Amino acid sequence: MNMDTKIKRRIFAITLACILSAVIAISAFGIGQSLTHKTPLYGLAATAQDFGTIKLDCNYNEESHTLAVNQTTTYINHSTQTLFDVKFHLYGNAFKKNAAYPAVAPAEVDRAYPNGFDEGYAKVTTPHILIGGEDNTVITVPLSHGLKVGDSIDIDLQYTVKLANVKHRLGYTDHAVNLGNFYAIPVVYDNGWQTYPYSYNGDPFYNEPYNFDVTITAPVGYQIATSGTEINTNHYQGYVLRDFAIVMSRDFQTLTREVGDTTVTYYYLNDEIPDISLYTACNALAYFSNTFIDYPYSTLSVVQTDFNQGGMEYGALVYISLDVTDQLQYQNVIVHEIAHQWWYGLVGNNQIRTAWIDEGLAEYCTAVFFETHPQYGKTLDEIAEQNKTSIKMFESIMDEYGVYYTRQMYNSTTQYKMSTEYTINTYARGMLLFYAIHEMVGYENLNAALAQYATDHCYGFATFTSLTHALEDQLGYDLVKFMNNYLAGRQDAVL
Ligand SMILES: [Zn+2]
Repeated sequence: MNMDTKIKRRIFAITLACILSAVIAISAFGIGQSLTHKTPLYGLAATAQDFGTIKLDCNYNEESHTLAVNQTTTYINHSTQTLFDVKFHLYGNAFKKNAAYPAVAPAEVDRAYPNGFDEGYAKVTTPHILIGGEDNTVITVPLSHGLKVGDSIDIDLQYTVKLANVKHRLGYTDHAVNLGNFYAIPVVYDNGWQTYPYSYNGDPFYNEPYNFDVTITAPVGYQIATSGTEINTNHYQGYVLRDFAIVMSRDFQTLTREVGDTTVTYYYLNDEIPDISLYTACNALAYFSNTFIDYPYSTLSVVQTDFNQGGMEYGALVYISLDVTDQLQYQNVIVHEIAHQWWYGLVGNNQIRTAWIDEGLAEYCTAVFFETHPQYGKTLDEIAEQNKTSIKMFESIMDEYGVYYTRQMYNSTTQYKMSTEYTINTYARGMLLFYAIHEMVGYENLNAALAQYATDHCYGFATFTSLTHALEDQLGYDLVKFMNNYLAGRQDAVL
């Protein structure tokens, strides 16, 4: 056992004790969500025309655990200059042996791989392309003619992804096949191509929304959860999604409910209170839609699967880990991942360089959800106190072992030496940053400011500067100095 694991276990034990001491009152309450369409979005079909399209023809071989993909990407040059190549991330090779930037942290290998380390990789068969980047996770497609600003081009790629036997975003287990970040994802061009290696800290992604048209051929008996809407058997479409993920299992049970114009489906493998889990998902979807901006998609898939972290967000689909066995914590993960549909999904950000934006907002908004839904027995103030306690515990343990740590929140995911250090700075401090603003203005005013922020950045990207200015404009406080101080690690900074 290494130090990181010891620290994590101690923090986990303390966090668990806090959670268990909270009142669990989630047994019998009525279900009934309604949406008040305060901020109607334009129809997605019209919005979709501004975005590229990714067509995926996928064939899954259960014996070899390989996914063969034919991909056609209609790429639109949204940059301000002529482009002579287009780049994609293809993350299959982050699961290869001896990867420089492995998908799984060394301390978590035993937990993530149920049968010992197993290799995954991607093989691209398209000629006349270049494969590079750390661990060969970046594809460069040279263009025969320069692609002018605003022009589009169709790019074909063929590749096979060999899945590892791993409880991860991309992998298979005895229970399920997880296909997250499996396809060739166009790299964002933002003052140059923003290529990044994989990282076992956080969610190392920075994606623009795309429209998706996806067909899947899979062995008989699989139930398939996806980010899209099924328009024919195993044929799915989705508009303006930040990602497209698929989870397949022979063992799924499902529950479905409508929330406004959205069909929420809960796919589960082992849940003693599936109706409560669906109820929580529907409550979260309705609350965040009414509070910020409407959820624009016709489906939301909440999928319980094997995953070595608590959960994972994708466009219109979230993973909830089978490993989360505490019932209240499980509901917490559902709300957190659904909050990401706004912070990451509708309002994007660079999740490598500014993970605190989407994680901090997801954590803070989850706490506000519990504050406004007293049936769960958790309050905003209690959650803030738990985060403060977790930070103190982390720092005292680090001090005890004489290990250097940072309070800096500016770091990229890969700059944190330990995943606990990443978690403390991004989730706990991220939540407390927004909580500090709430303490000045109240969560209702902060909600209203975030609604405007969501409207202004919908389908685009937010940055530190644009977030700060959006909040300043709405709240009337000078926030730049406070935010800078806070992110630099001076968390006693006051407004
Ligand atoms: Zn998150």
